[in-house]
Amino acid sequence: MQDRFQRNIEYVRISVTDLCNLRCRYCMPGQGIRKMRHEDILSFDEILRIVRALAELGVRKVRLTGGEPLVRKGILELIKEIRHIEGIEVLSLTTNGVLLPEMATDLRSAGVDYVNVSLDTLDEDTFSFLTRRPLLAKVKEGLQALEEAGFTDTKINCVPLAGVNEADVLKLAELARSKPLKVRYIELMPVGCAYRSGLRGIPMDEVRRMLKEAYGAFVQVGQGKSLRGPAEYVRPAGFAGQLGFIDAMGHKFCNSCNRVRLTAEGFLKLCLHAGAGLDVRDLLRLGADDRKLLEALSQAIYHKPAEHYFLDADKEQDSRYMYQVGG
Ligand code: SAM
Ligand code: SF4
Repeated sequence: MQDRFQRNIEYVRISVTDLCNLRCRYCMPGQGIRKMRHEDILSFDEILRIVRALAELGVRKVRLTGGEPLVRKGILELIKEIRHIEGIEVLSLTTNGVLLPEMATDLRSAGVDYVNVSLDTLDEDTFSFLTRRPLLAKVKEGLQALEEAGFTDTKINCVPLAGVNEADVLKLAELARSKPLKVRYIELMPVGCAYRSGLRGIPMDEVRRMLKEAYGAFVQVGQGKSLRGPAEYVRPAGFAGQLGFIDAMGHKFCNSCNRVRLTAEGFLKLCLHAGAGLDVRDLLRLGADDRKLLEALSQAIYHKPAEHYFLDADKEQDSRYMYQVGG
């Protein structure tokens, strides 16, 4: 369906849990996290009902995220069920990769099309510092496991941070030299504890400059129109894969935004930064029938905000952390 700014909303990102097996400094506090009660998060039946309704409204792509989606018990069952929903053409997953060594093959068989792995560094000490867990080896094994399970078009997401993983901007890019991976750089966004963590994102123009200095001029790569995301892709000479840039802060991509988000406790978020949205869990638990659900979802989506205001202190910001929203 279209919102009031004629944007086609065809993509939902679903956070299936607020739990995580890492504690990335810009995403989660190290301690004092209040775990949600099990009954407060959406059951699989509730998620499926919402996805069916969204599919009726024109959503064609689902991404599962979290917290860490692979720690949610029964996730493979949920994936199989979503796969069967009419209208859903693409099912993808964003993961920190720690559980991929044992789950990649099952994810493939269950019907996941694409996997994004968040990996900010290839250095063990930096990884342990940033995520507060010494699990880099698992993530590297996980990338290998994805390849062996037959996944293609895998994306690696890196948040470049000043004075922390600068050297990894190039080291991660090198992964795309011989393999058809997409290595994407994402600007640190002021969500949750990101700025309070003391970390500072490297501006995307600076990331581009570092890569151009190493690889020379880029050739921009078109991605076609269908279900495009906000990344802009380039292919340095001699690379099998691509490099992507998500310039959330400097260059807004709001006018082509095609997505909404569903939090683990069933709040439909219309924009990453804003609190605006719909409490779908309440609606379901108060007994809304399918017609009422469709009506409420379409009303909410119609009123999706025009753009984000990350840099505007006067505008309302959401108090949720990134691990609660799913990125
Ligand atoms: N646990 C999974 C993972 O790490 O891929 C899925 C959830 S995580 C919240 C999704 C993405 O959000 C990760 O790529 C992470 O790097 C990114 N992220 C978290 N906090 C961020 C922030 N403040 N700014 C930009 N990206 C952020
Ligand atoms: Fe967990 Fe992902 Fe947040 Fe890291 S970025 S703490 S892996 S949810």
